[in-house]
Amino acid sequence: MTDEPRIGVYVCHCGLNIAATVDCEKVAKEAARIPNVVVSKDYRYMCADPGQEMIRQDIKDFKLDRVVVASCSPRMHEPTFRKCVESAGLNPYLYEMANIRELCSWCHAHYKAEATDKSIDLVKMAVAKAKYLSPLNVIKVPVTRAALVIGGGVAGIHAALDLADMGFKVYLVERTPSIGGKMAQLDKTFPTLDCSICILGPKMVDVARHPNIELLSYAEVKKVEGYIGNFKVTVTKKPRYVIEKDCNGCGECSNACPVEVPNEFDENLGFRKAIYVPFPQAVPMKFTIDMDACIECYNCIEACKEQGRDAINFDQKEEERELDIGTIVVACGYDLFDASQVKAYGFGIYDNVFTALELERMTNASGPTQGQVIRFSDRQTPRSAAIITCVGSRDEKTNIWCSGFCCMYTLKNALLLREHYPDMKIHVLFMDLRAPFKGYEEFYRRAREEGITFLRGRPTEIYEDPKTKNLLISMENLSTGEPMDLETDIVVLSPAAVPTAGSEELARLLTVSRDASGFFMEAHPKLKPIDSATDGIFFCGAAQGPKDIPYSVSQGSAAASRAGRIMARGEWEIEPIVAFVDAEKCRNTKVKCGICTTKCPYGAIATEEKKAAIVNTAKCHGCGTCAADCPSNAITQRNFSDAQILAQIDAALEEKPEEKIIGFLCNWCSYGAADLAGTSRFEYPPNMRIVRVMCSGRVDRDFVFEAFRKGAAMVMVSGCRFGDCHYISGNYNAEKRITPLLTMLPRFGISAERLRLEWFSAAEAGFYVNLVKDMVETMKKIGSEKIKVENENARPFLERLLAQSGG
Ligand code: FAD
Repeated sequence: MTDEPRIGVYVCHCGLNIAATVDCEKVAKEAARIPNVVVSKDYRYMCADPGQEMIRQDIKDFKLDRVVVASCSPRMHEPTFRKCVESAGLNPYLYEMANIRELCSWCHAHYKAEATDKSIDLVKMAVAKAKYLSPLNVIKVPVTRAALVIGGGVAGIHAALDLADMGFKVYLVERTPSIGGKMAQLDKTFPTLDCSICILGPKMVDVARHPNIELLSYAEVKKVEGYIGNFKVTVTKKPRYVIEKDCNGCGECSNACPVEVPNEFDENLGFRKAIYVPFPQAVPMKFTIDMDACIECYNCIEACKEQGRDAINFDQKEEERELDIGTIVVACGYDLFDASQVKAYGFGIYDNVFTALELERMTNASGPTQGQVIRFSDRQTPRSAAIITCVGSRDEKTNIWCSGFCCMYTLKNALLLREHYPDMKIHVLFMDLRAPFKGYEEFYRRAREEGITFLRGRPTEIYEDPKTKNLLISMENLSTGEPMDLETDIVVLSPAAVPTAGSEELARLLTVSRDASGFFMEAHPKLKPIDSATDGIFFCGAAQGPKDIPYSVSQGSAAASRAGRIMARGEWEIEPIVAFVDAEKCRNTKVKCGICTTKCPYGAIATEEKKAAIVNTAKCHGCGTCAADCPSNAITQRNFSDAQILAQIDAALEEKPEEKIIGFLCNWCSYGAADLAGTSRFEYPPNMRIVRVMCSGRVDRDFVFEAFRKGAAMVMVSGCRFGDCHYISGNYNAEKRITPLLTMLPRFGISAERLRLEWFSAAEAGFYVNLVKDMVETMKKIGSEKIKVENENARPFLERLLAQSGG
């Protein structure tokens, strides 16, 4: 290093969020003693204007060339402070962050002294890294002005229409034969009770007619490659056995079809033909042959020909389309919990137990019973009905979450039954009734005024009277504390909303996370509720968690605006944290090596014999796997260089290393979980010192050895669960590289239990907390050990790296 760095350290109180636990003044004072720190201050709100102004002024006054802010997670305010230092003329990558809120004050609230010590360590680590920072320039990539919307429910429809109105090309991929989603199945909508398809239908038609929207129905996303602005998406179109452009939707084929099968759109209460459209307002109005049901009588072909058309093609095959996409909106909605799983309620066993969606189809004038509600045992009109809420919701045995909209649709169904049958006795059996949004409480009052009886309690069992087929509900009435039985003609179950089938696979294709419930997980629950953690991919509607129609619509529009913001600019800046090759060191110039080429999951590194490897920066996603696997240390990852990582390890272990755990956590999943543990205020022992890497694939064996050499009590290497890696195969590479250390370490006098490889998602904060607790127990059990090395002072890697100018 030619000039000594001049570093400024700024410790944020975050009001009392940090300062209530951490002695910020002490942290700032300690930071001032670190070599190269020329100024160190603490302040109430570093991210507020005066805090930022203080940093800007100090950069000028103290001629700072590096800045460290100790505050919240880098996943929160790293961009804010990068902009701040940039506005003072400093390169934004000469900035580093110490996360003393999520990783410290919020999770060690009852260990104030330890939390302060840990904060000091985290600041030391950040300063150590900062010394080796180099100025970097953002990489500008062109952005394709086309969006992919996955899922054609009400959320996806709104996202697609808004994006198309902004002038972008939109591909709307819907996996069923028609768009519309669940809303198309509903009869009326709360709280206004307007007809669902009457308000949705015109929007569906707008989709079909919009010149900027290409609707790919009966299609699914098969492969997603690339990055923000430049995704390559492969979509598979399933064969309808009907040529879409030739079908005019006349329906004569269906009339001629002799086969009838249960209609899934009517929740299997009615029938459809083997050649069908799911419902009369379907978009596109194109028929589909259900080959599982078709008997190949070919009547449909004849009927079509009689209309002067030739739209049926039994030889149609699956087709693939490759799309160039700038941004992606995930709007794949939800599924209903399978109520038959709650055996005690007899759904699927007793004829007169229905789900709420079945009731919607029955009350619908174009439904299977033409708007009549009937008992399936005797096809009579019921004189009484009991509606049970929270079926599969708020229940440890099934799903713990509240599905949000069930209370409201329960009220709606009660009112619809009242409207259809003024004399019917209607009971709502509920746990709690939640009616928080505009007009919802009024809707509840209306239900009470219309004579609906509300009983608080979760039924324990439903029995059927074998003779009358009436249903007997046993429950404890929580208002009186007394057990009670209720006899009713029909029971309507209001099931939970659960993640839609295929969400797991879709998340994997998109390399986005799902939360503990399995719904798609937003980048930040408050400030980035629409964004995924992967740039350029957004969520809306019930895909991200149960949501009613108004909320789904607003999210659809929000996702469109987030996506449009990227595409409108025509180019996007991506972080320059890519790999780079030191041509002189590259072994490929002497022997054919090419390991980096085989390890790169994106094909971003090219090697030619006797020539140094070349990184295509636009293709490089910055996982750092190549850097960890390069046998001659010729590749490094910018901003996550070996020197920077080793310097952090050393700084963390300067004092009391025997009490510390060094955790190499991937930015997306495991660091996300550690952040979430903080946000959730989960408490755990303060022994963990995290070195954040973008991907576990970046973790070099040298890092683990260096941590043990410096006396760390434990080391954890962790990343996303297998199959969920944000860099496709980074965690597999990490596992392959690090696992052999478990057998190597004992040879150096270190118990294998001291090294943990752990894979968990960003939602698994509890898992992370338990891991730390468990590791602390293990560390206490093993006691002290010292790594045996031939020469105690040998530091081949660090010495070599410190000799370089870093970066
Ligand atoms: P969905 O409606 O589930 O649509 C998702 C779409 O994505 C579907 O078309 C699906 O086929 C498609 N899809 C899924 N996966 C993929 C994939 N991998 N690739 C391509 N396409 C895919 N809300 C109200 O506000 N008022 C009401 O009155 C009301 N009544 C309700 C009654 C009942 C019985 C129920 C169960 C819900 C009710 N709701 C009501 C809630 C309403 O259904 C949701 O708010 C709404 O459907 C959410 O829309 P969405 O687009 O997010 O999801």
